[in-house]
Amino acid sequence: MPNQHYPNLLAPLDLGFTTLRNRTIMGSMHTGLEDRFYNYHKLAEYFRERARGGAGLIVTGGISPNRRGWLLPFGGTMNSLGDIWNHKKVTRAVHEEGGKIVMQILHSGRYGYQPFVVSASAKKSPISMFKPKALSESGIESTIRSYVRCARLAQKSGYDGVEIMGSEGYLLNQFLCARTNLRQDRWGGSIANRMRLPVEIVRRVRAAVGKNFIIMYRHSILDLVEGGNSWQEVIEVAQALQQAGVTILNTGIGWHEARVPTIVTSVPRAAFASVAGRLKKAVSIPVVASNRINMPDQGEAIIARGDADMVSMARPFLADPEFVNKAAAGRADEINTCIACNQACLDHTFSNKRASCLVNPRAGHETELRYLKTTRRKRVAVIGAGPAGLSASTVAAECGHDVTLFDSSDSIGGQFKIAMQVPGKEEFAETLRYFGKKLASTGVKLALNQRVNREQLLAQGFDDIIVATGIVPRTPKLEGVNHPKVLSYLDVLLHKKPVGKRVAIIGAGGIGFDVGEYLLHDPAVALPVPLTHWFTEWGVDPQAQNNGGLITPEPAHPYRQIYLLQRKVSKVGAGLGKTSGWVHRATLQRNGVEMLAGVEYVKVDDQGLHITVGGAARLLEVDHVILCAGQESLTELMPENLAEHGPRFHKIGGAALASELDAKRAIKEGAELAASL
Ligand code: FAD
Ligand code: NAP
Ligand code: SF4
Repeated sequence: MPNQHYPNLLAPLDLGFTTLRNRTIMGSMHTGLEDRFYNYHKLAEYFRERARGGAGLIVTGGISPNRRGWLLPFGGTMNSLGDIWNHKKVTRAVHEEGGKIVMQILHSGRYGYQPFVVSASAKKSPISMFKPKALSESGIESTIRSYVRCARLAQKSGYDGVEIMGSEGYLLNQFLCARTNLRQDRWGGSIANRMRLPVEIVRRVRAAVGKNFIIMYRHSILDLVEGGNSWQEVIEVAQALQQAGVTILNTGIGWHEARVPTIVTSVPRAAFASVAGRLKKAVSIPVVASNRINMPDQGEAIIARGDADMVSMARPFLADPEFVNKAAAGRADEINTCIACNQACLDHTFSNKRASCLVNPRAGHETELRYLKTTRRKRVAVIGAGPAGLSASTVAAECGHDVTLFDSSDSIGGQFKIAMQVPGKEEFAETLRYFGKKLASTGVKLALNQRVNREQLLAQGFDDIIVATGIVPRTPKLEGVNHPKVLSYLDVLLHKKPVGKRVAIIGAGGIGFDVGEYLLHDPAVALPVPLTHWFTEWGVDPQAQNNGGLITPEPAHPYRQIYLLQRKVSKVGAGLGKTSGWVHRATLQRNGVEMLAGVEYVKVDDQGLHITVGGAARLLEVDHVILCAGQESLTELMPENLAEHGPRFHKIGGAALASELDAKRAIKEGAELAASL
């Protein structure tokens, strides 16, 4: 019987020799756990929860077929029988929950961050310091054998198949494109030669594993780099891969070195699904759509209109392991939606830290952060319904405590309500929708419009009082700071005060950049930005006539003239997210924002903002000066002498520490404290 809520997305997929229980794929995410043998029991629990939550097919993080393919030194490798034992923990856990799992084989080629990197040609990538050696003919043969051995070992480990990673600019992509393949032998030149390596790998893996084993291939269908493949070439490769024995054709968008964002939160949802739709018309095996698909209604629509047979979502399964079960039960509004921030997943991966999730700190920590039922129910007050307080109150209630959540405002969200006003951050509203549902389902008593004080709290006899009151914006000491030209970021984003056409922003942290993007936006253009508009803005040709889908971006039409200022002499925006900061910098640069470092603020007067830069005086003749100069903790509720008070007081989020505060820390602190009460 088709599922009444998502009949297409949740329909089984018969592959001939095996059937997938629905059309969702948990895409490959490197967690860091796969790199160390002693972490495989944690990895097994991480995947077990996703299999129990209903994922149709799970893909592991990338496992290298040999050492030269390592992304990082000593990264996860499968090249000997000794590797099987650990992987069996993973496959057993997934199978016990009725799921299916394939192991991704990833050879990073010139993206490797290690000295033994190889590629099609000796051409360094812009994102690794190591120059690769061009593979010799015998090196290519040994690489093929490594893939075959790796796939056989995966089969012995109990995997239902393998995914061969051919996109995002990794080794096989490097062979496929003229950008990185300068060879003049039978592995380079024409597309027939450039695709010889991936096709030969698939052909020989198929011969080795037999016909009843999934081979999924992740094919780059829009390279988004100069020297990337044309659509005609993409199709030719896809057809050859099908011929060679691929079961499912997954798709990838953009190389890691591409200067077009493909997954950050400002990319419109399901932006690239139509490209997968064009591929589907050219092959007869199942095709998977991917990139910025984060809710079941998009997955349903993509499959219903015939753009793909399956949808791959990687980060959404970090955010909510129960994604599929909730959708199936008609409870999609209870899904903890991935907001595409990258802060705890990709930013961690690229900093060599274990991947987790901003909205779900249990991700990757399933065996360590557990929400167990308490044997001693306590009366708990949480003050502040921002990310920290929402997290603390819902986890405490889930653990069985009697929780009251107070906020002085008339709605939940704290600073997230302000963040979601920024163009491209519309997803942040989903987190508040999720928490709204979670408060109700866990039975938290919500007391809005109540600015509580310490005496009131003490009078109510709570066992524990969690202060999550956040921050107050910092007002810098500056002559003229009370001039009518001066506004705070709250005046702009929350109170919507009118802002002139020429603006100086004091403070170039995350909020300074966000205010810049907000003020650049032409209010006549509806939000979220329409897809066609976004494509022309970033210079994307989804038809991929040539050059990997790149065209000249449309000239910018900034709505305001903006200066973004900081006192530090470091690069403006250097502290932004590792995998998303460049998008914010590029957006502001394209729109002519003048970013100044090493600024000293002198005064604000009727003329504008007087500053010095490198000792030289300068007047910025602006209509408004917006203060985004950081924040200070709001801790008025904390007693001076903690020992005197019966209830245990705790501080979390911004109330605990305003510097380096973000929602990732706020939510994690809330969950950890509540789980330990
Ligand atoms: P807050 O969110 O400040 O919540 C505190 C709550 O306490 C408020 O609702 C307040 O009304 C309530 N309160 C205070 N005093 C009392 C009292 N006495 N009685 C009752 N209620 C009280 N972070 C990220 O990680 N990624 C981002 O991309 C990001 N973008 C941002 C963009 C903007 C424009 C802004 C402003 C912030 C952004 N942040 C971002 C920061 C993030 O929102 C904060 O780190 C986070 O909200 C801090 O959570 P918190 O719960 O500690 O405090
Ligand atoms: P922030 O990142 O700490 O930036 C504060 C800015 O104000 C800095 O540029 C700082 O630079 C400047 N500043 C500090 N004290 C000043 C003073 N006395 N006078 C003038 N300038 C001063 O903080 P934020 O922008 O307020 O953001 C708050 C938190 O929200 C951040 O920790 C951030 O992680 C989070 N956030 C994240 C994102 C994201 O996209 N991930 C977006 C928004 C916010 P100088 O000292 O060099 O002048
Ligand atoms: Fe999604 Fe952000 Fe969580 Fe990564 S950290 S999975 S992008 S919500």
